[in-house]
Amino acid sequence: MATQVIIIGSGFSGITAAAALAQKGYDVTVLEKNAVPGGRARKFAIDGFTFDMGPSWYWMPEIFEQFFRQFGKKRADYYDLIRLDPSYTIFFGKGDTMDVPAKTEALFELFESYESGSSSKLKTFLEEAAYKYKVGMEEFVYKPGHSILEFADIRVFKSLFRLQMFSSISSQIRSLFKHPKLIELLEFPVLFLGATPQNTPAMYSLMNYADLILGTWYPMGGMHKIIEGMIQVAEELGVKIILNQEVKNIYVPNGHATKVITQDKEYHADVVVGSADYHHVEQVLLNKEHRRYSPEYWDKRTMAPSSLLFYLGINKKLQNLQHHNLFFDEDFNLHAAEIYTNPKWPTAPLFYACMPSKTDKTVAPKGCENLFLLIPLAPDLEDTEELREYYYKLIMDRLEDLTGQEVRNSVIYKRSFAHNDFKADYHAYKGNAYGLANTLRQTAILKPKMRSQKVKNLFYTGQLTTPGPGMPPSIISGQVVAEEIYKTIKP
Ligand SMILES: Cc1cc2nc3c(=O)[nH]c(=O)nc-3n(C[C@H](O)[C@H](O)[C@H](O)COP(=O)(O)OP(=O)(O)OC[C@H]3O[C@@H](n4cnc5c(N)ncnc54)[C@H](O)[C@@H]3O)c2cc1C
Repeated sequence: MATQVIIIGSGFSGITAAAALAQKGYDVTVLEKNAVPGGRARKFAIDGFTFDMGPSWYWMPEIFEQFFRQFGKKRADYYDLIRLDPSYTIFFGKGDTMDVPAKTEALFELFESYESGSSSKLKTFLEEAAYKYKVGMEEFVYKPGHSILEFADIRVFKSLFRLQMFSSISSQIRSLFKHPKLIELLEFPVLFLGATPQNTPAMYSLMNYADLILGTWYPMGGMHKIIEGMIQVAEELGVKIILNQEVKNIYVPNGHATKVITQDKEYHADVVVGSADYHHVEQVLLNKEHRRYSPEYWDKRTMAPSSLLFYLGINKKLQNLQHHNLFFDEDFNLHAAEIYTNPKWPTAPLFYACMPSKTDKTVAPKGCENLFLLIPLAPDLEDTEELREYYYKLIMDRLEDLTGQEVRNSVIYKRSFAHNDFKADYHAYKGNAYGLANTLRQTAILKPKMRSQKVKNLFYTGQLTTPGPGMPPSIISGQVVAEEIYKTIKP
């Protein structure tokens, strides 16, 4: 009999771990509480619209290519990918927009048009960012983060300084560029990591390399095509994915997990992988004596933001919007402070609008648009219908004004999603959307550990452990945990 692995959760990390372990010869079952797999990257279809529920930015395409290659497959056999140009548009105010071009020469021209001399600085900045991306990807993100000794190699140790692990990305950007719009453009990708630019190591300018050089891509048919392709690979390797199975308890007699118990069944386990939110697996599914961390430990973590989302079906074509649109027409610092330092519903939030129907006819009926609006919010806020409606009106007013058209009377489908849904649907701690923030104090060995200290055959993966939030990091997390299991418990 092969070693039986039970994986809790069918997000990017869970599916990746499942496929990698099945390839090594384990007997793998994934238990998923929801009716649709994919976790934060689920989809739903209604009235001819297909909405991706979470991720919409496809960055670091090589990580996805590598997932399929690992199993002798090609990404192109599962979905078509196109590069967006412009990558995205930033609205700074009425009639004041910036299209961020995919081509590097056009990008240098754009910088020069805002600040004389900035294109050569951008070139240097991006060369450094390329180095950080290379070293970060080769030396850092694939480390499980058990111990500082993983970083003891002199080459890696030396690179810590060139990588600027100990200074903030904000100070690096501000030392090079003066124009506030260029600063906002360069600080934006860091928001994916769940922290402010002031609190994020300068190493993460690797995200600028990902953004401006590697580019923004889109899988035709929607982001869920990635999940569908990955599941197909996993199932071909023998993985069983069982939906509507909510795990209630991990049974641990004598420091060893032997069973995973759902609402109506028990599954034998030789190895258990928690790919649902770490906090939920540890604090809810394990009995107290098997937890490594305390409620106080969790309460002190800096969670990545939550979000208020609107999935909208529009019964006409919209003008002046690209596929990705950032509304930076309000004060970035005030909104950031209201997420991180003084958590509250924001006074005047920035927001993001994604309109995939601009690129992909399959996600909306003919003549219609598929529109997804997102306001980043502090986690752990009170979430009510009234608040959601207040912010819907607020951003609709701005969307209509800044794009110069009527939108709300053309909304024929509307669904909102915020803290209460993140908690109910994913057991998200404090209603977080993106897991645990990648702050300096929560990087690498300072993250919750992948391997349980108290339960020998229990492992964790996903956006609350190494390397962090986002689809590519969650895929990497699944690959790393599979290697860790293989090192410890043979198939
Ligand atoms: C709104 C939003 C926008 C985003 N935008 C982007 C983006 O543009 N680009 C990008 O790269 N990333 C983006 N992200 C982040 C990215 O989606 C996540 O980092 C990634 O999907 C997390 O994968 P995961 O496997 O760690 O966790 P999840 O996707 O959360 O998977 C965990 C799974 O565990 C299941 N589960 C929970 N409890 C139980 C239980 N008791 N029993 C059984 N199953 C359980 C959940 O239902 C879920 O399916 C976004 C996230 C959100 C929410």
